[in-house]
Amino acid sequence: MHRVYLETGDDGRLRPGQTVEEVERWCPACRAVYPNEPSPD
Ligand SMILES: [Zn+2]
Repeated sequence: MHRVYLETGDDGRLRPGQTVEEVERWCPACRAVYPNEPSPD
């Protein structure tokens, strides 16, 4: 999966920003908590 960074929008809310190109492996707990984008592996 790919890590997705959050950024603050003009309204002050967090929103998904840049998606990291590097593929990472996360444990289920982190997958549930942190924003990410699934990738085939
Ligand atoms: Zn973890």
